[in-house]
Amino acid sequence: MLKRELCPVCQNNPVAVNYIRDGVTHYRNRCASCIRKRKKLKPQPPAWFRSGYRKKECCERCNFKAKIPVKQLFVWHVDGNLKNNDWFNLKTICANCQIELAGSRLAWKPATIVADF
Ligand SMILES: [Zn+2]
Ligand SMILES: [Zn+2]
Repeated sequence: MLKRELCPVCQNNPVAVNYIRDGVTHYRNRCASCIRKRKKLKPQPPAWFRSGYRKKECCERCNFKAKIPVKQLFVWHVDGNLKNNDWFNLKTICANCQIELAGSRLAWKPATIVADF
């Protein structure tokens, strides 16, 4: 990474410098303290998952039945508010409908795949 950002693990210190080449500073993906403590960023389930919502087996828009749900089905927020994880606001949408929705005027937004806190 080329920008000095906050350490994503502790959200406390800026990330450590990795090396400087041709006047460009390259940074590590964690701060010095997290590297020393070997702290790793644990993948957290997304907020909608923590709310207890589970993907359906088929698309709730066109009823497409997915063979590979992880790759073919996605969770969408009906009201476009990614923080609203009420079940009535969440819909399981297939990859095809996702493309159609992205081009439509509906407020629907795809849910984050990783945690958003
Ligand atoms: Zn850190
Ligand atoms: Zn669909």
